[in-house]
Amino acid sequence: METKQLIKNFNAFLNPKQIGYIIFYVTNRCNFRCKFCFYYAEIEKGRKPEELTLEEIDKTSKSVGSLLQLSLTGGEPFIRKDFDKLTEIWIKNTKVKYITIPTNASMPDRMLRYLEYILPKYRNTYFRIAFSIDGIQDEHDVNRSMPGSFKKIEKSFELINPLRKKYNNLVLDSNTVLTSNTQGKIVEILKYIDDHFDFDNLTVTYARGDIKDPELKTKAEKEYRAMNDFLNKRQRKKEKRFLYPLYRGVRDVAWNNLMKTVFEDKFVTPCVAGKKLVVISETGIVKPCEILNDEIGNLKDFNFDIQKLMKSDQQKKNS
Ligand code: SF4
Repeated sequence: METKQLIKNFNAFLNPKQIGYIIFYVTNRCNFRCKFCFYYAEIEKGRKPEELTLEEIDKTSKSVGSLLQLSLTGGEPFIRKDFDKLTEIWIKNTKVKYITIPTNASMPDRMLRYLEYILPKYRNTYFRIAFSIDGIQDEHDVNRSMPGSFKKIEKSFELINPLRKKYNNLVLDSNTVLTSNTQGKIVEILKYIDDHFDFDNLTVTYARGDIKDPELKTKAEKEYRAMNDFLNKRQRKKEKRFLYPLYRGVRDVAWNNLMKTVFEDKFVTPCVAGKKLVVISETGIVKPCEILNDEIGNLKDFNFDIQKLMKSDQQKKNS
């Protein structure tokens, strides 16, 4: 049964007409106010009455078909009290294989409760929890504008780490944002993370999009690429997990596209963005990419049927 489903997931991913990767903003709410956050303008708006309900998410995900990769992001995803139910809906309706959840890791008890519930129940779905870490101890708190947040990360890691032994469908990663603040110390930060935690992967992403403090943006392309090469080598040594290299392939396609967007100032992925990859906002706006402002449409205008929305967009382009 599982093999059949797996084949379906991969066929869906290989089919150029079918969505393979969805980034879903479960909420715009966040308890942090990071100055390099490209979603800050939405976060400042606070809770939106039109945030998608579980029923609307159910309808949307039913229209997707089999899915290989899903990112449940925000805002801070664990802020949503129904995050477990929301995740279950996506799994049941799309049989998604890989779920990534980026988090500021500020709610250790909630994270633990969620994982204790979801991991044993959905053993055929692989979860990657990506802890955001942007400095060593107090420097992280300053960079993330949240006193005490590094301690919360330590607490979250301590609570969640033992689950990896219990359940083989959990991967714990860290992610650091390359900004003009972290650029000079980036290797030091990564070494500290490596020495003090036991993450499966350390990743670095680039401050991108429309951020609150544009001074934090850095075009340190050379450092970024060199660092990424170094990290990739380190990661490969650790990758023994089932089908993980394939997941990496999917992720790398997305990142290569992003790199081209950021550094070459062009969006060169007509075969991927808006087709293989779509971004859904917390209110149902569908976009081809996280950092470009183009909108394909709003799910609310298509009775939460993403296929109808995509078809209508295609027809508009053809006419
Ligand atoms: S924790 Fe993440 S979502 Fe929240 S403000 Fe910071 S970067 Fe944005």
